[in-house]
Amino acid sequence: MDAHVLKYNATVSEKIMVSPDLMILHVEADEPRSEFEAGQYLLLGLYGHESRSSNAEPEEKPPQPDKLIRRPYVIVSERTERTQFEFFISQVRTGQLSPRLFNLEKGSRLHICGSNAGIFRLDETPDGSDIIMIATGTGIAPYISFLRSHIIERPESKMIVIQGGRHRWDLGYSGELTFLEKHYANFFYVPTLTDADEEWDGLRSNIEDLLRKDFIQNEFNITPDPERTHFFLCGNPEMVANVSEWLVGFGYRRHHPDSPGEFYVEEF
Ligand SMILES: Cc1cc2nc3c(=O)[nH]c(=O)nc-3n(C[C@H](O)[C@H](O)[C@H](O)COP(=O)(O)OP(=O)(O)OC[C@H]3O[C@@H](n4cnc5c(N)ncnc54)[C@H](O)[C@@H]3O)c2cc1C
Repeated sequence: MDAHVLKYNATVSEKIMVSPDLMILHVEADEPRSEFEAGQYLLLGLYGHESRSSNAEPEEKPPQPDKLIRRPYVIVSERTERTQFEFFISQVRTGQLSPRLFNLEKGSRLHICGSNAGIFRLDETPDGSDIIMIATGTGIAPYISFLRSHIIERPESKMIVIQGGRHRWDLGYSGELTFLEKHYANFFYVPTLTDADEEWDGLRSNIEDLLRKDFIQNEFNITPDPERTHFFLCGNPEMVANVSEWLVGFGYRRHHPDSPGEFYVEEF
């Protein structure tokens, strides 16, 4: 058997296209994997010889055919999963791996590895603290895992997801988030769009402006206070930089594994 095929240790069990550059990919590992915490990631890999999607743009420097290209992707699944893993992936059309992932179909083989790493850990926040999760794009992925894994354990915390995008189709998992809001009194979902059509009757602002206008104070009676409320930021680097600056103004410190803080950041 071809050595390339031997390295592959997982199979695509489902592929759901959300838009031409956004998909939900379900991957079944050949062998059960070790435990992970909600918000952590795994590495997905494909060889350079694999075909790219039909809407990809040419690569500046094509990889060697026998090179295994690997990148980290946050696990969307609940933390108890051992073999079935869900990922929410956006295509970088000029990129090396994501256009190859977008060309996979149900039944395609790929490589999955990694030691379930990542600093995004809801379980490290103090019990009873309010949690505000802010995302753009695929940055929503870790929060879905947080909520699937932990919402039931934190009835005393207010948990709020603020999700920003340009259009409706940018709001991945909005159906699941709306469902959770209806079923959990302590969970609130705040989608906000900057380029929505006229049928959109929700918020029309970018996330930074919403926060600067005291949205969470007025809407949820939460004053940003590092002692009481922890923030997670994931997605677009400009949004992350602006919200980080706003939080620092309230005395927040960015969390690092060796120096704990009250806001957690993941950019991609
Ligand atoms: C901890 C972590 C978790 C991640 N989780 C996810 C996830 O859940 N879902 C997901 O879709 N991605 C995620 N990413 C990003 C992912 O790992 C890849 O970087 C991304 O898919 C691009 O890989 P590529 O090989 O296609 O592009 P590359 O060949 O690596 O990059 C090509 C070029 O595109 C630029 N680029 C990279 N990413 C983007 C982007 N998002 N938008 C525009 N330009 C970009 C690069 O700077 C580079 O110049 C995560 C990254 C990290 C570090």
